[in-house]
Amino acid sequence: MFDNLSDRLGNVFDRLKGRGSLNEGDVREAMREVRIALLEADVALPVVRRFVDAVTEKAIGSEVLKSVTPGQQVVKIVNDELVDMLGGEKVEGLNLNAKPPVVIMMVGLQGSGKTTTTAKLGKLLREKHGKKAMMASLDVNRPAAQEQLKILGEQVDVATLPIVPGQQPLDIARRAMESAKLQAADVLLLDTAGRLHVDEALMAEMKAINSVSTPTEVLLVVDSLTGQDAVNVAQSFTGEVPLTGVVLTRMDGDARGGAALSMRYVTGKPIKFAGTGEKLDAIEAFDPNRVAGRILG
Ligand code: GDP
Repeated sequence: MFDNLSDRLGNVFDRLKGRGSLNEGDVREAMREVRIALLEADVALPVVRRFVDAVTEKAIGSEVLKSVTPGQQVVKIVNDELVDMLGGEKVEGLNLNAKPPVVIMMVGLQGSGKTTTTAKLGKLLREKHGKKAMMASLDVNRPAAQEQLKILGEQVDVATLPIVPGQQPLDIARRAMESAKLQAADVLLLDTAGRLHVDEALMAEMKAINSVSTPTEVLLVVDSLTGQDAVNVAQSFTGEVPLTGVVLTRMDGDARGGAALSMRYVTGKPIKFAGTGEKLDAIEAFDPNRVAGRILG
């Protein structure tokens, strides 16, 4: 995860840490390299600027350079700023704070990993939170989408709403809520339709489902491999549906990290989970401290 970025930054900071003394020029030179590394990792420009400015100011504006271990202190500042950039100290959990069945609505573009993530969350809720979860696919556009969720449901041992051919998304949502109530489910996961790109029809459908199901969580699933595009998708959704968080999939294959590092600052939305593989337990609560630690090795 984030191997390229990690290697690049590692080189810069190993050099800094290896030196007994540092002056302002050394810090600025290192920050120039950090800036290039972040841009190459596809981090959004305003985020890179803010990061480099903050680190530079803290490193040269205090007693850091006069200390006995200036390089290490600079790396500590970088770590803290990275944590900040990734969302802060807190690990954001799921908000399940409502009368059951609590609804979690999953949104995103086709191919982002939405259906897989829905099943992963169903499994996580059952195994880690001891919740009775239920899942329903509202995707009537993609042939076999509902069938796909059903099969995944069987694999993770989470009930799915029986498929009624021809039923439209809003009606499926209503039926899912009724059924979840009858079966005393704690949580209902609604897997909504994706499109190949953001369009009006998709947004109108999301809004209608959102108002019918009043979810406590509206989670946007985006592919971290798409870098800044993932952030752009998140921005388009933000204006339309009240997103409560983001799930970044395919972090296992993401050598760069641009989406993770830009998401919070650009969209204001927390990354709540990271998808880390195709297996149905390959999902992690997104922990900014741990991710920053991985990046800095
Ligand atoms: P959807 O169209 O958004 O519902 O996407 P799917 O859930 O069908 O996922 C598309 C493909 O991405 C599938 O082959 C998944 O196994 C794969 N996938 C989803 N999440 C991850 C992840 O975190 N890591 C990896 N490596 N693959 C993933």
